[in-house]
Amino acid sequence: MEAKTKDLWVFVETNQDGSAKNVGIELLSPGKMMAEKQGGSLAAVVIGCHVDAAVQAAATHGADKVYVVDGEEYAHYTTDAYTIALCALVEKYGPTSMLIGATNNGRDLGPRVSCRLEGGLTADCTALDIDEEDGKVAWTRPAFGGNLMATIKCPNNFPQIGTVRPGVFKKCEETEAKAEIIREDIHVPADKIRTQVLELIKEMGDENVDLEGAEIIVSGGRGVGGPEGFAPVKALAEVLGATVGASRAAVDSGWISHAHQVGQTGKTVGPKLYIACGISGAIQHLAGMSGSDVIVAINKDPDAPIFDVADYGVVGNLFEVLPVLTEEIKKARA
Ligand code: FAD
Repeated sequence: MEAKTKDLWVFVETNQDGSAKNVGIELLSPGKMMAEKQGGSLAAVVIGCHVDAAVQAAATHGADKVYVVDGEEYAHYTTDAYTIALCALVEKYGPTSMLIGATNNGRDLGPRVSCRLEGGLTADCTALDIDEEDGKVAWTRPAFGGNLMATIKCPNNFPQIGTVRPGVFKKCEETEAKAEIIREDIHVPADKIRTQVLELIKEMGDENVDLEGAEIIVSGGRGVGGPEGFAPVKALAEVLGATVGASRAAVDSGWISHAHQVGQTGKTVGPKLYIACGISGAIQHLAGMSGSDVIVAINKDPDAPIFDVADYGVVGNLFEVLPVLTEEIKKARA
């Protein structure tokens, strides 16, 4: 289809309580820069049931407009209802490009919408820009197992759509809401929704790890040597109020669950402090954590590549360093 405007849209996914998921609000930051370069406005799209909190969050984080579709049929995400609503909005208003968080639902919705609208989609982007020569979105994502960063364009079909991982961008400062709120009455009859949510089962324990929202992460890699080697990592995390992360080597060895994995095939994180213990710093691990504000590496090999990205490095045995660090932090807090 043809773009009717130069506007850029950000799909702001909602939580069950109607608040915005972090990734949607994060995407308003690059969205603002891109919309300005494209010469259009930045619009957020919120679909859900009782979603005022998400609308307010979008309006106070840079959106010029917020399109809202509110209805009982959107209380739980379904591919059918959300696709119908989002496609109807796109067909009516014709944005030039759209960003969607690469969450489970976003990874489902983005391809479905792009296919239905015969547009293009670049999945799992880690950097975004506008090509100043042709005004098209330059979508950058890891390729060939993370060894190359590829920049992709979809020049002929609109809207240009991309999914972006949570944690790649930081939320902008909250400001006074000035956005125009546009409510659209789009309803989807029950017989058009082929799936039904019968029951919500809250994930328990380990699977509930919130790495993407964590301010401090202490991660362990193959250097911890086994599941019991995570004990000093967890002890340091506890005194810091941190979340425990891991490299894929530790996860693949079965020492800790996949919910803790940081990196290209794990979570992308952006904490204020990331402490990497016994992690060499492979490119696929760095892809998930190099956006951290401060990186501390503890590794016995002075040539480990993790030290190239670390702000502070300790060359030493993590089993000697971590207990001392944990004790000193405890004392300082006493
Ligand atoms: P290693 O590379 O084995 O490093 C262990 C480090 O521990 C070494 O530097 C060693 O010096 C140090 N060490 C050992 N003992 C001690 C000690 N007692 N004290 C201090 N230091 C010690 N990896 C990820 O992490 N996340 C991903 O999402 C991911 N996705 C991938 C996707 C693809 C397609 C591919 C091909 C690979 C992916 N990988 C990923 C794997 C990645 O390439 C590395 O193999 C992995 O990150 C290595 O983990 P590691 O650093 O824990 O282990």
